[in-house]
Amino acid sequence: MSKTFDKLQPYLDKTMALQTARTLFEWDDETAAPYEAANNTSKVIGILSNEYRNSLINDEVRKLLKKLQEEKEQAALSEKEKAIIKELGRNYEQLESIPAEEYRAFSELASKSCRTWARAKKGNKYEDFAPILKEIIGYKKKFAGYRAKNGKKPYEVLLSDFEESFGIKELDIFFEKVKKELIPLLKEVGSKADTIDKSYNYLNYDIDKQKEFCKFLSGYLGFDFNRGVIAESAHPFTTQLHNHDVRITDRYIEDNLESAMFSIIHETGHAIYEMSIDDSLTQTLVGGGTSMGMHESQSRFFENNIGRSKEFWEPLYDKLVAAYPVQLKEISLEHFIKGINKAAPSLIRTEADELSYPLHILIRYEIEKMIFNDEVTVDDLPNVWNKKYQEYMGITPPDNTSGILQDTHWSMGEFGYFPSYAIGSAVAAQIYHHMLEVMPLKDYLKDGNLTPIREYLKDTVHKYGATKNTNQILKDMTGEEFNADYYINYLKEKYELLYEI
Ligand code: ZN
Repeated sequence: MSKTFDKLQPYLDKTMALQTARTLFEWDDETAAPYEAANNTSKVIGILSNEYRNSLINDEVRKLLKKLQEEKEQAALSEKEKAIIKELGRNYEQLESIPAEEYRAFSELASKSCRTWARAKKGNKYEDFAPILKEIIGYKKKFAGYRAKNGKKPYEVLLSDFEESFGIKELDIFFEKVKKELIPLLKEVGSKADTIDKSYNYLNYDIDKQKEFCKFLSGYLGFDFNRGVIAESAHPFTTQLHNHDVRITDRYIEDNLESAMFSIIHETGHAIYEMSIDDSLTQTLVGGGTSMGMHESQSRFFENNIGRSKEFWEPLYDKLVAAYPVQLKEISLEHFIKGINKAAPSLIRTEADELSYPLHILIRYEIEKMIFNDEVTVDDLPNVWNKKYQEYMGITPPDNTSGILQDTHWSMGEFGYFPSYAIGSAVAAQIYHHMLEVMPLKDYLKDGNLTPIREYLKDTVHKYGATKNTNQILKDMTGEEFNADYYINYLKEKYELLYEI
């Protein structure tokens, strides 16, 4: 027991309470709040955010943190407390390195930029967005500069905010493999995509029936309705107040059967992670998933590795057909599996299939690196973007709306975020490969018994929250740190089999 840590505890509790309140408002904003509420409510959120910052960044906490970082004090800490101090130290480093005045100015600019981007996207006017994007990038370079230690590159600093195990060196190796192996594979698969008729997916599917089936699917996977809720929002997402209150959303489209189904499987994967974090960790600074990449690995494991497999649908497909007997009358299980795995080069990241998805991320990674190495001007970005799509996917966006303006991330200054999406898929493939070796995974799926799969993930990944990083989790689980080969091999094997290449 550490007396110093005990003194810190009330500050941490207050921080978590404010964080929970803020999360609840954000959830409400996306799901239930009336349209006109946003302006007035944002004032409340602003005050809460400020309080959150003050409860963490103050002289007393600073003093206690400094003391707790000393070797002598560290010896008296439990593993959990050590992890909390490490996380708190990281928060401090991030928040304190930037002068408060500049941080405020940036936050205001980012919220303005978000609106400017949305308008520019709608009107296909990149030139309207470019000036504010220049300012955003300017701030991000400056902020990264404040935090860069030992000659670290600015982009390296930004990447470390999302995934501590992956810097430029690791990502370069990863994306080189993606480039070398997946571009030719996608080309080949894409040339055969027309042989799969997927028109059944775009018939009319009653929304109420979709909701019912999605709720069933989520429970089937292991979503605990006593500790979670499902709502609707424009874009599906997961959020959590703590491990006994995890919330997911879905979006239902009348003429698209797959959209809501695979979104709910994806979000349920995120939710199961959060619900399975140990009770002793929840409501602490290390009480959530360990990183963006690791979180995404769990959602994609359920969505792609498991959810798009034949074994998963074997016990379920009759039920799906029973829900839509007219639309799916002629569609066999084999046909359906080909349909949900159809792949071809595409322009829009969020609608991309499992195979073309990492190429969308590759393009963003290369461009972000160029931006922060001063190798491209903001005015030239659409050009660079279009050239890369032509080079890697063989298609050129017809306009900036479906090109460089499609994602919101850069408008908010979120550079370094995209790679986590691809890392997530790759980590999922490594975990999937390992689980096939240690358990009869496919038999469990065929039997409709997902409990052993979920329990294994709980014991090796979920329960640790953020006390271990991605590489530590992988090492302890599989005996090996991150290795992209599993991902490349998984995609090659899967698509070569499906398309008989
Ligand atoms: Zn996700």
